[in-house]
This record gives sequence, C-alpha cells and structure tokens, in this order.
Amino acid sequence: MVLDNLGSSLRGSLDKLRGKSRIDEEDVQEIVREIQRSLLSADVEVDLVMELSDNIKNRALEEEPPGGTSARDHVLKIVYEEMVDLVGESTDIPLEPQTIMLAGLQGSGKTTTAAKMAWWFSKKGLRPAVIQTDTFRPGAYDQAKQMCEKAEVEFYGDPDESDPVKIAREGMEATSDAEVHIVDTAGRHALEADLIDEIEEIEGAVTPDLSLLVLDAAIGKGAKAQAREFEDSIGIGGVVITKLDGTAKGGGALTAVKETGSSISFLGTGETVQDIERFEPNGFISRLLG
Ligand code: GDP
Repeated sequence: MVLDNLGSSLRGSLDKLRGKSRIDEEDVQEIVREIQRSLLSADVEVDLVMELSDNIKNRALEEEPPGGTSARDHVLKIVYEEMVDLVGESTDIPLEPQTIMLAGLQGSGKTTTAAKMAWWFSKKGLRPAVIQTDTFRPGAYDQAKQMCEKAEVEFYGDPDESDPVKIAREGMEATSDAEVHIVDTAGRHALEADLIDEIEEIEGAVTPDLSLLVLDAAIGKGAKAQAREFEDSIGIGGVVITKLDGTAKGGGALTAVKETGSSISFLGTGETVQDIERFEPNGFISRLLG
C-alpha cells in the first residue's frame, strides 16, 4: 500500500484492525476521526473533510473485503482511494511549446514560481523564457531577473514601462525563439477590480495555453473567493502550492482545486530555483495525513 507515511495515531487506529476479519462501526469511527483531525489541521476545508469521512464510512461498512484481504488492508485501500479522489491527479503539463500564465495575490510566490518553472522546463530540454509583467510591486523586476539568471533561463522585463499589457505583448515578441513562455503577472493585497481587469488584458495579449493559480500553502478560507474570481476572469487550469517547506501543509489549496475544477500542478518547496516539484498524489497524501 502506498500510504507509507501515516501519522502515528492513524496508524495506531488501523493497527487495531489487525487480525479482525470484520470491521464494526466503532473501528471506522475511530479511523475517520483520526483522518479528520489530520486533515483539519492541514487546513482542508470542513465540507471536504465531511464528504471524505462519509465516503470512507459508507464504503468501509458496506463493501465486502475481497477474499483474503484483511479488514485493515481493506480499510486502508478505501482510505487511500478516497484520499486520491480528494487531492486529484496532477495537472497534465505536456513537454511541448506552450504559454503558461501565473496568477495570484501578492506574496503568494508567483515570481519565484515563474523562475522555478522555467528552470524545470529547461531541465526537461525545452527552451523557456520568463516574461515579467508585474509593474506594481517594487522589486519584482530585479527579483525575477536575478532568479532567471540563477536558473540560466531567458528573461524579459522592462523596468521603465508602466503598462503591463505592453510588456506582455513586447515580451512575447522579444522571446519568440523560446519554446515555453512563462508569464508572471502582478498581484495585489486583495482581489481588486483593477487587478482582474489587468490580468484579463494580459491574457488577451499572450493567449496562454494554461493559467495557473499560485497559492501559499498557508492559505485558508481565502482560497475559495480567489479561485472563483480568477476562474471567472481567466479560467484556471491548475494550482501551484508554494512554501510547502514551512509548517503549513497546503490543504486549503484543495478548495481552490474544487472551485476551479482543476488540479494541482507544481509544489514550491523552498526559495531557490531548484525548489520545485511536480505534484504527485501519494507524497501529498502522506503529507496531509502525516
Ligand atoms: P509574488 O508576489 O507572488 O511574486 O511572490 P514572490 O515570488 O515574490 O514570493 C514571496 C516570498 O515568498 C519571497 O520572499 C519568496 O522567496 C518566498 N517564496 C516563494 N516560494 C517559496 C517557497 O516555496 N518556499 C519558501 N520558503 N519561500 C518561498
């Protein structure tokens, strides 16, 4: 079974099933309670936790374990399948020429993620370029430029230009030799109307194949409104969770995944350009339940 990194109390509850051939309601309740505790402390939204709990309870009590399967393994399999259903599969990122636009609030980690993704594509043998259209945050240009230098990837920005749409358009032209264009956009502190107008205009200028919503792992309830707003304006095809090297486990981002009908694409695990991983369900599930 792939759930190799369970928290000790959940493991303990599951281990109580050892040697049992039948599972009773009390056993399942205890296991579900442990899972709920882990997921809620990982910031997974209550509604999602309740839905998952009901599914696990119903299936564990109703489904007959296949012959030869112990009660413990049967429940473990159900927990695993329901967790995979909760976190989803990884966003499909084809290794081919494309334009990817990053959206999110200020400080979520967009600029860092843009450089990291460019580094990731370059390691996959594609030629990337980062286009920095954030004219709002002082320092965004220098930060992006420096990170792209470290990643040894092409960078386009214009510190003297205040119109992000113009930068986007000119950036696409100036980097036309690149195979993968990663377009960083400005965030704000909150979802302001001008942020949404601006990102819609940039989207029109660069016509991305994919727009990713970048969220800090510590995001809680705010995920829903942000996801809805960006989904309605530019359409979100995937979510990036940053700062997973901290204490937050990123469960709040699952709300954004559900809200946009998308999936998780990349995880940010540090401040340097190499600190990026493709999302894969098993590791993330272990993190949530660990
Ligand atoms: P933006 O405003 O959305 O462009 O956010 P930035 O890319 O500037 O990131 C905001 C801060 O978070 C910076 O100090 C980054 O170094 C930091 N940061 C971004 N991603 C990560 C990550 O995965 N781990 C850690 N520890 N810090 C990160």
